[in-house]
Amino acid sequence: MRKKIVAGNWKMNLDYNEGLSLFSEVVNMVKDEATGTQEVVVCSPFIHLHSLVQLAKGSAKVSIGAQNAHQAESGAYTGEVSARQIKSVGATYVILGHSERRQYFGESNELLAKKTDTALANDLKPIFCIGETLQEREANQHFDIIKSQLTEGVFHLDATQFARLVLAYEPIWAIGTGVTASSDQAQEIHAFIRKEIATKYDQSVADATTILYGGSCIPKNASELFACADIDGGLIGGASLKSRDFTDIVKAFN
Ligand code: PEP
Repeated sequence: MRKKIVAGNWKMNLDYNEGLSLFSEVVNMVKDEATGTQEVVVCSPFIHLHSLVQLAKGSAKVSIGAQNAHQAESGAYTGEVSARQIKSVGATYVILGHSERRQYFGESNELLAKKTDTALANDLKPIFCIGETLQEREANQHFDIIKSQLTEGVFHLDATQFARLVLAYEPIWAIGTGVTASSDQAQEIHAFIRKEIATKYDQSVADATTILYGGSCIPKNASELFACADIDGGLIGGASLKSRDFTDIVKAFN
């Protein structure tokens, strides 16, 4: 049975102390909520990672991730953080290919393929994001865009490597906008992604892949989205900054 995940993406929010107090509340609130096959992941700014890992000790259900990692192993890349450095503080996940990285930092599928390789080589689990713009959806290009993001970003991996990924479908028009994809729209793309994985690898790999939905997911719409056959949880931006909302989304599986 594939893993169900609710992952928070704090983006560039919260100072050090604010992050620690939000996280302590979350750990406390989710400890009785997340069930057997379910995992809660918090993807924080780099400055919080080490402390969150320490605070999460003893809570098997909460894991910590970064929001980006460089493609090189190490070197003269002022201001960047490597996958090995992230791993060394005990984080286990890293978001790659978030649309904000693609849009504001020019991250291409080709670059993201290298970042994925480096993250996997350092034993991090990428949460690899894909999704179309509003313009692409309106031009009915969303299936092609998703297919090329998969083909160019992650389909160079062999089946064993691919099995270590989590995918996140995040329609860009739904991120931070308050407009959520309907459960039918989200399910349609998730089923398409799973079919593409089955075609590239095989049905058992497709069936085992966790595919998250992201884009204005809030307590009110989480249950309906998570009830869809191919939606295995959520990548949560704004609502992950409020412990009650985030916990209510975690509870949406129950
Ligand atoms: C995100 O940035 O990954 C995201 C899903 O944001 P929001 O939930 O705020 O739309």
